Amino acid sequence: MLKMKTEIIIIQADITTLEVDAIVNAANPSLLGGGGVDGAIHRAAGPQLVEECRRLGGCKRGEAKITRGYNLPAKYVIHTPGPIWRGGGEREEKILKNCYINSLRLALEYRLRSLAFCSISTGVYGFPIEKASLIALGSVKDFLKKKDSLEKVIFALFSPKDLQVYLKAYRKIFRKDYPQEVRK
Ligand code: ADP
Repeated sequence: MLKMKTEIIIIQADITTLEVDAIVNAANPSLLGGGGVDGAIHRAAGPQLVEECRRLGGCKRGEAKITRGYNLPAKYVIHTPGPIWRGGGEREEKILKNCYINSLRLALEYRLRSLAFCSISTGVYGFPIEKASLIALGSVKDFLKKKDSLEKVIFALFSPKDLQVYLKAYRKIFRKDYPQEVRK
């Protein structure tokens, strides 16, 4: 059995309400805000967030940049633009994995203890959520196997349907070697 101390929590939640060290934003490469979760995060954080983002000069898909959280309960926002799904032949899976890995690297660099992800790329960017959920949980598991200084990683799903998909992926990816309660 693996000995990972990081707690993995899968919940249905609006990510902007979570009191964690950082929330991960499914951003676009401009980092200047957009629709979906990105829009919700910018609205909740207030106008200082886009000011700081403007100074970052954008971000490539699969990479990640960090800002403060301003009016959010979260201290930081990690912005990572996911891939646009174009059928799977354009490295979409690798780029999505990089989003998770690079977000976790930043979390470590900033010595964060708790982190919440949304379901990157599965909204407007059209990445099939069953496939995306396995990449999300698989990438986090691989990373934590090597570096488990985080206390808590939350996956915040917006709809009951998305929650079910992630719970199914959780059972597939984690259950055998990582039994723990999954809070709904
Ligand atoms: P992308 O462009 O990366 O696909 P979207 O914002 O369109 O990003 O969607 C990503 C996921 O975030 C979708 O599953 C969507 O349902 C979800 N989402 C939208 N608003 C929120 C929110 N406030 N909290 C958590 N997840 C959200």
